Amino acid sequence: MTLAFLKNLLFPLMAQGLLFLVTLLVLVFGRHEAWMPVFLRFLPLVVLGISCLFGWRFNRSRLVFGAILLFLADRFLFHLPADALTFAGRQAFIVNVAGFFLPLNLLLISFYKERGLLTNRGLWRLGFILFQPAVIALFYQDEPAHFAGLAAFPLFSGIFSSLLSLGEPAIFSFALAFLLLLFFYIRTKNPMEQGFLFALCHLFLGLAVARSAPVQTLFLASACLALLLAAVEDAHAMAFRDELTGLPARRALNETFLKLQGNYTVAMLDIDFFKKFNDTYGHDIGDQVLRMVATKLSQITGGGRAFRYGGEEFTILFPGKTIEEASIHLDDVRKSVEAAGFHVRGKNRHKKDAPKNRNTGLHACQRVSVTISIGAAHKKKGQALTPYAVLKDADQALYKAKEEGRNRVHLAR
Ligand code: GH3
Ligand code: MG
Ligand code: MG
Repeated sequence: MTLAFLKNLLFPLMAQGLLFLVTLLVLVFGRHEAWMPVFLRFLPLVVLGISCLFGWRFNRSRLVFGAILLFLADRFLFHLPADALTFAGRQAFIVNVAGFFLPLNLLLISFYKERGLLTNRGLWRLGFILFQPAVIALFYQDEPAHFAGLAAFPLFSGIFSSLLSLGEPAIFSFALAFLLLLFFYIRTKNPMEQGFLFALCHLFLGLAVARSAPVQTLFLASACLALLLAAVEDAHAMAFRDELTGLPARRALNETFLKLQGNYTVAMLDIDFFKKFNDTYGHDIGDQVLRMVATKLSQITGGGRAFRYGGEEFTILFPGKTIEEASIHLDDVRKSVEAAGFHVRGKNRHKKDAPKNRNTGLHACQRVSVTISIGAAHKKKGQALTPYAVLKDADQALYKAKEEGRNRVHLAR
């Protein structure tokens, strides 16, 4: 398992993990503090307010729906009048029913495509959330003993419900939602899917483990915070990541340039004859090649960091490296792109992307590959050069690499 793999796996989990830790710390150390009741009184409202504001400004209706769902669950579950809560068996019934429906609701919301908040679709979705507590409240009024039995039905012979303060249908619902969200998170690596996964974990602790109303409120508010954090991560990724390749985008490069100090090497990379490649195999296949090249570049060794500069051009930055040191790693990455084959299927192509040249004989599976040319330039410590000037030198070196026949590294001296 390489360091890069671990980094890719662990880094995106850091912010959510930290939130989880902070929640636990607040719980352990703040439990008996005088500020805790005031803090918990306002926390759900503040988190709901910020989530709605953020969701509205950034057009993230999933955040708003999730925040409303969790806020209502908190009010409904843990803030009913005291006499209602102490009524024998009632609270267990409500927690079991909510424990069954809430994970499924979170799962459903996570599947929603962005269709706005105050649109027809958005209002229907909101109505669906509000309708559920109303229905549960109806059952609650009528003292439905058989529903209580159903909500606590020992699906797994009561093994899990004896350990957790939740009915087994609810535990099943949590497990199902967890597995599906985990599956979709691993597939998409999307911050929002990760947020829903963590929100589900906070919610589970709130319903299945916590045994007092303040602790439950804390977990439901932190579940909402997990969604909010995910939405912030998502907005950050939108601003700084390139959507097609997943590499940091030009804006990230500009920001990194502002922080650069000492000596460094900048390399510009360009795919050879890419226009011809697009014309032959179609734009969609071209996009797949861009992703493949980006993956190879992201695995660059020697402390290099890859960016998508734009189009089929990339930049690699080596802070603290001389041009000679960087050139070894650049040549390695050039070779790895050249060696990486790519299978193209004729049948799957859209008509609009069909090749201009129909005589390529491309019906079944064909292995194609691309090469890249690289130009690199260097700034020595103390030299009065801006990163943009070094980038320009690297660009000129790239032109030299093209002139010299492509698929090579040219170093500006
Ligand atoms: P050279 O070896 O001199 O670099 O030749 P080239 O054909 O690669 O150079 P040129 O700059 O003329 O062509 C770049 C092509 O890259 C043009 C455009 O079709 C393609 N391209 C740029 N961005 C994208 C993209 O996001 N997706 C796809 N599929 N193609 C892109
Ligand atoms: Mg180009
Ligand atoms: Mg090119």
